[in-house]
Amino acid sequence: MATKEHSVYKLVGKDEAEGFAWSFEGPNTEAVLYPFKFPVIQSHEVRIQQTYFGLCYTDCHLVNQDWFPINYPSVPGHEILGRVVMKGDQVTQFQIGDLVGAGFIRDSCGKCKYCIQGNDQLCGQMGDEHFIPLPKFGGFATHVQFPAKWAFPIPNTLPQNLTPPLLCAGITVFAPLKRYFNPKKEVGIIGIGGLGHLAIKFSAALGMKTSAISTSADKEQEAKSYGAIDFIVSNDPQQMAKASGRFDIILNCAHASTVDEFIAQTNLLKNGGDFIMVGIPAVNKVELQLPFFQLVCRQISFIGSLVGSRQENYEMISFANQHKIYPTCEEFEFHNFKNAYDKLLNGRPKYRCVVKVGNAPETLKL
Ligand SMILES: [Zn+2]
Ligand SMILES: [Zn+2]
Repeated sequence: MATKEHSVYKLVGKDEAEGFAWSFEGPNTEAVLYPFKFPVIQSHEVRIQQTYFGLCYTDCHLVNQDWFPINYPSVPGHEILGRVVMKGDQVTQFQIGDLVGAGFIRDSCGKCKYCIQGNDQLCGQMGDEHFIPLPKFGGFATHVQFPAKWAFPIPNTLPQNLTPPLLCAGITVFAPLKRYFNPKKEVGIIGIGGLGHLAIKFSAALGMKTSAISTSADKEQEAKSYGAIDFIVSNDPQQMAKASGRFDIILNCAHASTVDEFIAQTNLLKNGGDFIMVGIPAVNKVELQLPFFQLVCRQISFIGSLVGSRQENYEMISFANQHKIYPTCEEFEFHNFKNAYDKLLNGRPKYRCVVKVGNAPETLKL
């Protein structure tokens, strides 16, 4: 049970609680149950009782301070799905009971140049309010409360137990694929894991010739079942040489940790190709120097991409629903949250971990 109290979410007895969160009280600690009361709901906010939520490795990076120091207690989690149970008086787009989802972005100002251009995921005006997990409570909880503008309506035809990962992993790969989409382009997806398996499905369904690039030769059939037309084993020098200069786009869903590995990956691009990065490794574990010669002389564009805008989220949800694009998930019960987190941190889940909230809010009060 929690011992450290958050300044905004009051720690209370179980029978008084409006929600139960899995909270971390320090880096590399086990999660503890945190019964809490929300701050008063703001006029632009919704409160959601979750049906399922997802876990993402970003949560582990944040909790363990792989990127920067954070305050504890911390409740991360940014793959949110559930029903609206309360709303502020300015929220008109949702009714009580609506099924909604949310991802990594918590709020945007709506007025800055990025918001006006439609790149509201890049809004720099909201400070700590920008991202869902920090410093407010995120999705490792029965209930969450945040601005309604970053909640998205979820169609009933999407299977709820497979939907949360679409809201982080899904949008993370869909947005850059859609942004750089061209039916004539050939795409290589590096890494068949939580992001990569969805990337193959989205890229193929968008209509681009898509290949999978992986260290695991035994994933060939699986990658092809997702829509890959070809499969390249990245630690086979012959296969890598044969694919050299082939792709217009590489979407890298696995970090290169050495310059040689990075050069081998960019060798797969045509001159003038686009190398897209969507993950951030632990900063203390990777010291990657840029291969300037390779990038400049071959005019390779090195591109970062952060989840997606609100518009891109709407498009992704509709596209996934239409093409039945779902992640492969392992499911855990709310009371077994620690097993889900441990599997993500230390195991190799196939491929995303989701937690069923079910009737946890009631049973926890017993
Ligand atoms: Zn994530
Ligand atoms: Zn803005």
